[in-house]
Parts: sequence; structure tokens; C-alpha cells
Amino acid sequence: MITFENVDVVYPNGFKGLKNVDLKIAKGEFVAIVGLSGAGKSTLIRTINGLVPYTSGTLTVGDTVVDPRSRSKLRRLRARVGMIFQSFNLVNRISVLNNVLVGRSSMTPTWRSVLGWYRAEDKEIAFQSLERVGIVDKAYNRASALSGGQQQRVAIARVLAQDPEVILADEPVASLDPPTAHQVMRDMRRIQQELGITTIVNMHHLDLARSYADRIIGMRAGEVVFDGPVEEATDAV
Ligand code: ADP
Ligand code: ADP
Repeated sequence: MITFENVDVVYPNGFKGLKNVDLKIAKGEFVAIVGLSGAGKSTLIRTINGLVPYTSGTLTVGDTVVDPRSRSKLRRLRARVGMIFQSFNLVNRISVLNNVLVGRSSMTPTWRSVLGWYRAEDKEIAFQSLERVGIVDKAYNRASALSGGQQQRVAIARVLAQDPEVILADEPVASLDPPTAHQVMRDMRRIQQELGITTIVNMHHLDLARSYADRIIGMRAGEVVFDGPVEEATDAV
């Protein structure tokens, strides 16, 4: 599904964000990327949807080569690859439902999304997505009125509404308290199992990664230093 061949990222200031990364991630896998702050986890995940352009090697998603220079190809890629962030990135002043409908925007003519006129079919999908993360009762609340865990579940629903092949989550639980972090990880795991969506999650807690992932990729200083099943991942990762 996702293949990195000798992928490097050199940032504009000359800093090497990724060094010679070789990885194959199969369809439907749940992969946790672990490492200390600054290890390159976010850089790795962001190359997959072109948010960070890679500077050498080859990166493919499905049968498409990621081409960071082509805006139209990136747009098509991002429709297939949903992303979740540490800070939720919701629009606070609009409703939960309208936040989830943003996930339908690539399927909606611009004039309709500007006016907030979504098709009944899109609303149906948005409600189904909210149901899947258990917060359909919050559909008409403002996003800013929800707790952190609930806001992250809205972000997951927004990604689901986009019907993605891949979900990338960049430290999705780093700003949540431990019970809420577990709850959000459980939701992501359940969704991957129910829908078979390839899921890649960055985190700095190995224990949390061990509890939910199939496979762990350990990073240090822009390099992959461990890649294996959860059972083989030790604290040395
Ligand atoms: P992690 O997600 O593991 O915390 P990051 O991928 O965010 O790590 O960062 C890896 C390294 O790349 C860090 O040293 C960071 O300072 C550096 N870095 C990130 N973005 C940029 C950038 N735009 N320009 C230069 N260096 C960057
Ligand atoms: P959860 O674990 O379900 O994500 P929390 O335990 O953090 O939620 O919050 C418990 C309840 O408190 C929730 O029903 C939520 O609606 C409410 N709540 C939390 N933070 C806020 C807030 N800033 N404004 C309004 N209600 C809030």
C-alpha cells in the first residue's frame, strides 16, 4: 500500500529530517511510529500526504508515486489519505456536524460548501461517521464546547467522512489525559479493524503503541532504527 525506497528529506535550511528510509506498509495494517521528540516521526508521516516534500528516493501510495511538485496530484492524494493532528484542527465556531462535512469537501462543488449547502447524502455520511465514534448526540454543538477527547473524535469522524484508504495521525493523543488517550486509541483501532483502513499513528509512548498497533517502527535522528511486530518492540526502541 505504502512504499518508501531510500527516501530522504532535506529541509530548506539543510537539516536532514529523514535519512534513507525504506519501508513497506501493507493495506489494512495498524502501524505505530515511536521515538523521542525530534526523531522524525512527524516528518515521516507528513511525507506520505505531501505536507513535507521528500527530496530523494521514491514514495508510493497504492500505485501512485507521491509527487510533491504537482498540486493537482497532491489534491487527489489528500482525498485518499486523511490526517488527524495533535491539536484536532477543528473550526471552533461552527457545529460538529459542519466540521465533519468538511471531510466531504473534495466531493462537493465549492459554491455549495461555501454556502454550507451539503447534499442529503453527504449529511447522512457525516452522521454515520459521528455514530461510529459515538458522538452523534453532539452533532449540533459547537466544536469548541466539546472536551479534548470528544474533539479528537470529531476529527476522526471528519476523516472517516472522506472515505479514506489511509489515515495518518500525528500525535493524536499527546494532548489528552491517559484514560482519554486510551479511548481515542481504542476508537482508531476499532475503525481500522471494522473498515480495513491502513492506519499510521505517531506517538512517544511505547506502552500505548504496544497496546493498539500490529507493528512498531522506531525512529531516531531521522532514521528507522526498529521495525517489527509489537511483541519484539522493547524499551530499546
Ligand atoms: P518528531 O515528530 O519525532 O518530534 P519531527 O519530524 O517533527 O520529529 O522533527 C525532526 C527534526 O526535523 C527536528 O530536529 C526538527 O527540528 C526538524 N525540523 C522539522 N521541521 C523542520 C523544518 N521545516 N525545517 C528545518 N528543520 C525541521
Ligand atoms: P470524554 O472523556 O468523553 O472525551 P471528558 O471526560 O473530558 O470527555 O468530559 C466529560 C464531560 O464534560 C463531557 O460530556 C463534555 O461534554 C464536558 N466538557 C468537557 N470539557 C468541556 C468544555 N470545555 N466545555 C463544555 N463541556 C465540557
